[in-house]
Amino acid sequence: MKKTTVLYEGKAKKVFHTEDKELLISEFKDSMTAFDGKKKHTELGKGALNNKISTHLFKLLNSHGIDTHFVDMIDDNHMLHKRCDVIYIEVIVRNIATGSLSKNLGIKNGTVLPFTLVEFDYKNDELGDPKLNDQHALILNLVDNKEELDILRTKARAINDILVPYFVDIGLKLVDFKLEFGKDKDGNIILIDELSPDNCRFWDTKTGESLDKDRFRQGIGGVKVAYEEVLKRILR
Ligand code: 5GP
Repeated sequence: MKKTTVLYEGKAKKVFHTEDKELLISEFKDSMTAFDGKKKHTELGKGALNNKISTHLFKLLNSHGIDTHFVDMIDDNHMLHKRCDVIYIEVIVRNIATGSLSKNLGIKNGTVLPFTLVEFDYKNDELGDPKLNDQHALILNLVDNKEELDILRTKARAINDILVPYFVDIGLKLVDFKLEFGKDKDGNIILIDELSPDNCRFWDTKTGESLDKDRFRQGIGGVKVAYEEVLKRILR
């Protein structure tokens, strides 16, 4: 399958049409951004690492009955996937408090939450991805009805239930992550986008070290080495 015209270029991926109107190709880029695009950087090899990590995790979820847009990894930087109508909601899943949760609500960094928190952000760069409640999502017509919001939450929890023990086994705490969903040609809500250290927080179980995009956000460095370590553990 070959790339044809560009459908969309985002901060970390460029998405192309193919000869098949139901299939798209995403090119995983080496560029990194944070703080609503205000901080920018290029990390050579980061795109390939995220493509490989996402491919593995999509396959894992597929094998547990979670439908995703993944079709095939074409080469280091390219993934073939289904075309979906994007739902403009970022579904944030949190097991441990950190990041914006700690900042906004004053919950001490590293607090294990009494239950897994699922939140919605409006996927809208211009507005800085603000928090959404169900009524906001319905007023903005981001979904057709309240049931679809419940489907997003149920799917997000099911994905978390698969991923948490998987990462425990490879010495990583899955602290939090962002999921995106879309509707396939039959109207089914399926997982899209990517699952990588760009949109997940992983803390090493032994050392507590961040092995994810926080290294870039916080300017700690060692971004590529951390992403390579995540891939290495996933492949072992
Ligand atoms: P926070 O709200 O604490 O900044 O992020 C929570 C989790 O969702 C983190 O794992 C973070 O990587 C992910 N996340 C939230 N918003 C975005 C986003 O706009 N882009 C990406 N790549 N990840 C996000």
